[in-house]
Amino acid sequence: MNLEARLNEMLGKSIADSTDREVYEVLLKLTQSEAVNRQREEGKKKIYYISAEFLIGKLLSNNMINLGIYEEARNLLAANGKDICRIEEIEVEPSLGNGGLGRLASCFLDSIATLNMTGAGIGLNYHLGLFKQEFADNKQKEMVNPWIETPSWLIKTEKTYPVKFKDFSLNSRMYELAITGYEGRTNKLELFDIDSVDESMVHDGITFDKEDIAKNLTLFLYPDDSDEKGRMLRIYQQYFMVSNAAQLILEECENKGSNLYDLNEYAVIQINDTHPSMVIPELIRLLTLRGLQMDQAVEVVSKTCAYTNHTILAEALEKWPMHYLKEVVPQLVPIIEVLDDKVRRKFDDESVTIIDRNDIVHMAHMDIHYGFSVNGVAALHTEILKETELNNFYKIYPEKFNNKTNGITFRRWLLQCNPILANQITEWIGPGYKKNAMELEKLGNLVNNEDVLEKLLAIKQRNKAELVAYLKETQNIDLNENAIFDIQVKRLHEYKRQQMNVLYAICKYQEIKAGKIPETPITIIFGAKAAPAYIIAKEIIHAILCLQEIIHNDPQVSPYLQVVMVENYNVTLAEKLIPACDISEQISLASKEASGTGNMKFMLNGAVTLGTDDGANVEIHQLVGDENIYVFGASSEEVIVHYQKADYVSRDFYERDAILRKAVDFLTGEEMKKVGDEVCLNHVKEELLNKDWFMTFLDFEDYRMKKEQALNDYADRKGWAKKMLCNISKAGYFSSDRTIEEYNRDIWKL
Ligand SMILES: *Cc1c(COP(=O)(O)O)cnc(C)c1O
Repeated sequence: MNLEARLNEMLGKSIADSTDREVYEVLLKLTQSEAVNRQREEGKKKIYYISAEFLIGKLLSNNMINLGIYEEARNLLAANGKDICRIEEIEVEPSLGNGGLGRLASCFLDSIATLNMTGAGIGLNYHLGLFKQEFADNKQKEMVNPWIETPSWLIKTEKTYPVKFKDFSLNSRMYELAITGYEGRTNKLELFDIDSVDESMVHDGITFDKEDIAKNLTLFLYPDDSDEKGRMLRIYQQYFMVSNAAQLILEECENKGSNLYDLNEYAVIQINDTHPSMVIPELIRLLTLRGLQMDQAVEVVSKTCAYTNHTILAEALEKWPMHYLKEVVPQLVPIIEVLDDKVRRKFDDESVTIIDRNDIVHMAHMDIHYGFSVNGVAALHTEILKETELNNFYKIYPEKFNNKTNGITFRRWLLQCNPILANQITEWIGPGYKKNAMELEKLGNLVNNEDVLEKLLAIKQRNKAELVAYLKETQNIDLNENAIFDIQVKRLHEYKRQQMNVLYAICKYQEIKAGKIPETPITIIFGAKAAPAYIIAKEIIHAILCLQEIIHNDPQVSPYLQVVMVENYNVTLAEKLIPACDISEQISLASKEASGTGNMKFMLNGAVTLGTDDGANVEIHQLVGDENIYVFGASSEEVIVHYQKADYVSRDFYERDAILRKAVDFLTGEEMKKVGDEVCLNHVKEELLNKDWFMTFLDFEDYRMKKEQALNDYADRKGWAKKMLCNISKAGYFSSDRTIEEYNRDIWKL
């Protein structure tokens, strides 16, 4: 392909004479047509990855890299006075997910295509993604976040299915996004929608009428479930998603020659968390309509579906009151009753039933009984599922349980977001690591090479300078590029313990006020969205923003300590922040973070982890060894015992530890009250003192000590560079290519 000739032809003028937007639009179209050229014939068996979320991020650069045209395009644009980074800025990010779970699904689609597997993602075409976060008065405000433009990556198809609810029916419309593999085939992400969505019904930020389903079904990424109408809408969305999925799957399998009794030879369905669980009764319903006996349908579906568990947090395991299901999808109710009845006949154990005594349907229980595989997402998480949370199920079905430690696609999280590091690695060890991530281990031979260590530090410094410039331009934030960049970016949740990092920052502020100046300046960067109805999470954001203002306006402290919360943390920002990070904060309460994937992205980009032995941090710790990570805090076993005995009392720590007490009291001190909302700040403090469900105070002292150690070690630049290199060299295990190969080997068997 002659890229220049094609671009000129599509533009109808020279590149130099075109606007950035014009160039973006032709690159989009060109990329789309190249992607189509890589569609390959499907194999007999196909993996259908059903997920309520696909946090795909911007697509242009990723697709160009995967199609092998990125370098040429960048050079061509540069020769014509265009900066590819500016072109990338034009694209709006589709935020069709909340965080890690949706991002994982997107990394998986990339790897499935890269490994040339026949597969598709199935989800919903939300018109408005996760809200756009803005700050005003030191508080989070939620704004609409549209992403569908013309031209769009989204391709409208003619495929439509009827979907029946209790009182009405809707016809769906399928849209497609091309999923390009790196030097591999093109697969598809199928997103279902309806034609009658009414975007004008949104007012005051993100509020809308939750009742008119024909107008709001796919309007938003699943909304607040803090009220009954929000929960109902979620069930409407979930059923709509899985009914379309089931109809599509049966149609495709029949077209390939399936007689439906052999469905599992044509399809394997991965249920990503419990949001798509209703696909099980829906498939059974459709199979019986097509002539299978109930028992046969149940057996066929049980051989086709596999379930991934993403959390042990009780509030995140979906349980729907039966009367909701009767109100939305009464046709599934008799099927779920049959499924429950079969369980009750087999097992005399109330804890494993599908419909409990209070007439509540446990979606995960249905998945475990009627799927052939149950997997956790990191070694520790799977152990906790087997030994504690799902122990009663593990005893019944030990053979179903397996672990698949999460991974990330190195195309987006190294080649795309950190090209200078990627090119340098290629120079050092050749390009093989791009397809075989374990080759990064070769970097381990270079830890005593002074030149390599210096170059690594120089690349980090360059990435920091780029982040500084980007945040100045886009958010008018002034960062000190000579500071240590200590970064915690992820959803705001109490179990992730941003509040512990805040308390540390307050201690540091108080220390500096008292005259103890740090050897190297520190910049603590936060990025996090809080769910709109999660009050305490929004109050923690408020505390961070107040602290940011106080320190910013204190000339005695600001040269040595910065606290900054970036606005609207999303994939695009993650790609800028991660390459610039020195210390990666992964400080969840042990046993609570199922895996984490942010931890892997940071490691791959040469940040050193400061974390608890939780989720995949445990595996990072094992791989890099004690020397190359800072681990602190209670172990998951200890934490589980504290919960069992209910013996953790946060106030005891507050009373015993004067440094902690001073920091906690600062939350409601005069300085904070001057810039913040007294009620919110009081609430943050009271929550910590009277509840602290995620045991912040338990780990605080250990956290503070380990963080001091990391900050001190940073001054030994060569020693630090060795830690960086070690982390990069051991990151290969966390390639999602490895994860997907394991899914295929143990579960999908394509
Ligand atoms: C990777 C990623 C996450 C997940 O981060 P964790 O630290 O694993 O919770 C969330 N949001 C975005 C935008 C991401 O890229």
